[in-house]
Amino acid sequence: MTEETIFSKIVRREIPAEILYQDDLVTSFRDIRPKAPSHILIVTNIPIPTVNDITADHEAGLGRLFTVAAKIARQEGIAEKGYRLIVNCNHHGGQEVFHLHMHLLGGKPLGPLVT
Ligand code: 5GP
Repeated sequence: MTEETIFSKIVRREIPAEILYQDDLVTSFRDIRPKAPSHILIVTNIPIPTVNDITADHEAGLGRLFTVAAKIARQEGIAEKGYRLIVNCNHHGGQEVFHLHMHLLGGKPLGPLVT
């Protein structure tokens, strides 16, 4: 049984978050500590801990992360100038919340990726 995180509580609307979008597969809300003018998280509704735990059964939800990222980027008015999508995995990847999510960052030039 996968352990639940704070993101499951946000998905079920048990704790507050600025939710921008929700459907049967994913939920999107603003990051509580934004690193860019637009910093939005898109999470699978079911708690997949990390990218390492992905199976073929998850493909619909994972595809939806991208569809929703593109939709929200347009809504935020950052699509044309561009943005960055990030999925962190485990400690070396900088993952803090072990419930698979995509970061959508934009609204300013983000510079090169750090190594
Ligand atoms: P990670 O490092 O796991 O890829 O990213 C986790 C992100 O979740 C961080 O950017 C952090 O600011 C955000 N975060 C952690 N707890 C909460 C919360 O309770 N609400 C919201 N909206 N964001 C959170």
